[in-house]
Amino acid sequence: MAFVITEACISEKAADCADVCPVDCIQEGDDQYFIDGDLCIDCGACEAACPVGAIYYEDDLTEDRQIYLDKAKQFFSHN
Ligand code: SF4
Repeated sequence: MAFVITEACISEKAADCADVCPVDCIQEGDDQYFIDGDLCIDCGACEAACPVGAIYYEDDLTEDRQIYLDKAKQFFSHN
């Protein structure tokens, strides 16, 4: 399980999450930031730090936000 960054990050990219992540598993993509689910330790620091509420625990993602989990997996498979 991991935390996932969703649509509110697009065009916002505040990067507060990347600053607070203790394991440095958040990377900048073209249109948003992404969390590497293989490295995330589920600490929740990024969720609390995000100024636009873009970050959710994987289990709490609504159906329409599942695509952001797939988008993150795709991002890290290419990086
Ligand atoms: Fe990093 Fe913690 Fe957020 Fe996972 S939950 S991405 S470890 S800050």
